[in-house]
Amino acid sequence: MKTIYFDNNATTDVDPQVLEAMLPYFQGRYGNPSSMHHKGGEVAAALREARKQLADLLGCEPGEIIYTSCGTESDNTAMWSALRTQPDRRHLVSSRVEHSAVINNAAFLKRQGYRITEVGVDREGLLDMEGLKNALTPDTALVTLLWANNETGVLFPVEEIARLCSEKGIVFHTDAVQAVGKIPINLKETKIDMLSLAGHKIHAPKGIGALYVRKGLKFAPFMIGGHQEGGRRGGTENVPYIIGLGMAAKLAGERLPEENTRVKALRDRLEDGLLKIPYTMVNGSRLCRLPNTTNISFEYIEGESILFHLSHAGICASSGSACTSGSLEPSHVLRAMGVPFTAAHGSIRLSLATTNTDEEVTEALRIFPEVVIKLRDLSPFWKDGGPVQESGLLSCDTNNCQICN
Ligand SMILES: *Cc1c(COP(=O)(O)O)cnc(C)c1O
Repeated sequence: MKTIYFDNNATTDVDPQVLEAMLPYFQGRYGNPSSMHHKGGEVAAALREARKQLADLLGCEPGEIIYTSCGTESDNTAMWSALRTQPDRRHLVSSRVEHSAVINNAAFLKRQGYRITEVGVDREGLLDMEGLKNALTPDTALVTLLWANNETGVLFPVEEIARLCSEKGIVFHTDAVQAVGKIPINLKETKIDMLSLAGHKIHAPKGIGALYVRKGLKFAPFMIGGHQEGGRRGGTENVPYIIGLGMAAKLAGERLPEENTRVKALRDRLEDGLLKIPYTMVNGSRLCRLPNTTNISFEYIEGESILFHLSHAGICASSGSACTSGSLEPSHVLRAMGVPFTAAHGSIRLSLATTNTDEEVTEALRIFPEVVIKLRDLSPFWKDGGPVQESGLLSCDTNNCQICN
């Protein structure tokens, strides 16, 4: 059975050119870039080149990049730094739809006594800009917001928000893990202070990330140790992975046009085809969105069951409900958007990449309706080709959600 991988927002396949660029730095070119001999020197030179490749993708200076171990570390570092460099400010602004790397860190900071404002979104997943403006105070140390939502692909106007924060003297960080490589980014033309990215979302390996820190911004290191990364992140550099991220950044820049034409067209054909199935809908603004992501609700059936059947047919996707993690709650993102629970439960995220093909979309459009029909036939909320009207559906907020149980 052939695999159709539509889960590129979860992680991506390492590009063959990325792996090839990395391999010499495991054996052979193994020097420590801090060493004063030639074995160190050749590696230091390669690191400089890789840093330049990533800086070119972001439109920033190589010196504005700090390598980290992952997107999560980049997010944590940004939040930590903003609070440590402004100890008088005790307020942090974020949104209700952030990645767990930010949401759970904010929850931790709240327990430490910081004040947190989580700005809401509308039914399309777009940020409540008035709510954001009203949240900003002289006590606000940081505004941190996703550039692109990992579950829906919805974009926040971070460039506009960065200007707003800059005018008010508030530090602005964006988690751009999903945006990098999918939309054009030119940091030197923005007021963004810090930006997080992760290698494994752009065809580099898992376990390498980066944080952009605007030149001149006060910074406090999260990892204290040696002089690496200009003293901003201690620890011997993860050389092969940094080299890999450099190549991945170069390829992402070259493939940006394809991402916004061919990949987008694939996504749109897939989405339009799936919407022909009755009782389906797209979650998230279809206009203000990444080119590769669609989040679709198949009402009256359960996301986890859909995933199971899709996987059986070779299709990899992910769901917006979190029943497998032991909770009955649908995704916090869909909840924040006010997606009705019968729809939130049956939501599926499909995220494409340049590695996907037209044939795969055609095949998926053959398999999906079969799966949905089969599951609806088994659903207690579906009868005679339509939803059961008086089924007395219970809200997921209760402990006895009939879809989950
Ligand atoms: C994947 C992801 C992260 C976390 O990156 P890791 O490298 O897995 O730590 C953070 N934010 C967003 C939006 C992501 O999609």
